Amino acid sequence: MLQDVHQFFQKAADILDLSDCIRKILLTPRRIVKVEIITESDDGNLMHHMGFRVQHNNARGPMKGGLRYHPSMDEEHATALASLMTWKTAVVDIPFGGAKGGINCDPRALSTSELSAITRSFVGRIKEVIGPTIDIPAPDVNTNAEIMGWIMDEYSRHYGFSPGVVTGKPLHLFGSEGREDATGRGVLYVLQEVLRQQGRELKGMKVAVQGFGNVGSHAARLMADAGAIIVAVADHTGGTSRDTGLDIAKLIDWSKSHGGIAGFEGGDAFDGTLIATFDCDVFVPAALENVINQDNVDEVRANYIVEGANGPTSADASSQLTERGVTIIPDILANAGGVTASYFEWVQNIQQFRWDRERVNQELHKVMTRSTNDVIEAAAHYSTDLRTAAFVLAIKRVGKASAARVHIR
Ligand code: GLU
Repeated sequence: MLQDVHQFFQKAADILDLSDCIRKILLTPRRIVKVEIITESDDGNLMHHMGFRVQHNNARGPMKGGLRYHPSMDEEHATALASLMTWKTAVVDIPFGGAKGGINCDPRALSTSELSAITRSFVGRIKEVIGPTIDIPAPDVNTNAEIMGWIMDEYSRHYGFSPGVVTGKPLHLFGSEGREDATGRGVLYVLQEVLRQQGRELKGMKVAVQGFGNVGSHAARLMADAGAIIVAVADHTGGTSRDTGLDIAKLIDWSKSHGGIAGFEGGDAFDGTLIATFDCDVFVPAALENVINQDNVDEVRANYIVEGANGPTSADASSQLTERGVTIIPDILANAGGVTASYFEWVQNIQQFRWDRERVNQELHKVMTRSTNDVIEAAAHYSTDLRTAAFVLAIKRVGKASAARVHIR
């Protein structure tokens, strides 16, 4: 995945004619933290995990990005995701840099108390390098508001009350209205704006969604509310489809009570691993990376791909789809609604002031629509695709801030 991110970056860097040294500076993380986490399981055995936090760039503000709990988490993974965060916060022009981290654990195999102990131990090991003005974690794959609450509590034990050290917290613990569904909402807003500019509308379009966690479930629900027909959804347990549109509210209930969508009675079961090639107008990958790749790119049938996940399309697949005329709304724009609402949460924490949901959604709409316009404009200006345009825009913003800070030209 790191290689793919570098490929996307290099294409934009070529357009901007960046020197090798500037490229190296912009690709290298400022700091990579890797810590050992030793805890005790509920039955008294020792458990061993590794925790990571890669702090990529802070030219535009404190570093920002999620924590992912997944067996595949490692330094390279965190580095790729951290650099995407730098470009993402720059594309939506919020005052943050980029970071990412996580633990190589499988939360499904852990009890709540085991997960809490691992999280608290991790915070103990990285507390010196995070903070409301340094680096602010947030939820990502397999992490949630409850875990963010533990992080806030553990950090505050050492440094005093610090709600701004982490975002995506529970509402009753200084979280923000609207943060929970913000990534999915952002997916809807950017797609609506792209379609509007092409004189088209979402209403009646057939949509397939991969992943039914925080991003996929809210994106599906909100797109269905906006008139799209959700013809297929897949998660790690399987796939379900319905030509006339799935009842997303029912699917959410089913998935919550059954631990996944498999067996859903309101649709026809299919092999969920084939969702990327499902017959639809819009495909929303909203799970893990590299789901559209050399093996399936020729079979992709959607005309629009909205990247709710980070890095779901490999670099080669991305160029092939673009050549075919498929519109890809890239991750660093498409899923930026989450970190944008995180910014609103952080602002509220610092001001000790609460916004209502209406205000959060309104501000989110403003940021996502403006950013989509910026990217479309850059794509026209540089005669390139939306992904490369988003990278160009982001690199320019980060570059300007860095230059202004270190007084170089
Ligand atoms: N994990 C999310 C992302 O990839 C959110 C990060 C944040 O809110 O800081 O954008």
